[in-house]
Amino acid sequence: MKMEICKNQLKCDFYGCKNMAKYAFSTKGFIRREIVFCEDCMKKMYDCFSKTIVPKAVKSPFKNKKEKV
Ligand SMILES: [Zn+2]
Repeated sequence: MKMEICKNQLKCDFYGCKNMAKYAFSTKGFIRREIVFCEDCMKKMYDCFSKTIVPKAVKSPFKNKKEKV
């Protein structure tokens, strides 16, 4: 996966967004080879990803048992 700076004058691919695309994400897809998006949308995407991919808490339910000596 590779994200690049969008070199072409393209509009952001996100629906309802009127900004010019700043970044391009290569998908190597058949229909479209890349998704282009602006900085705002990148941040929104990041928010979305970080909510979905939550790093699991390091706290283990078994951890405290051994410490009680
Ligand atoms: Zn956008």
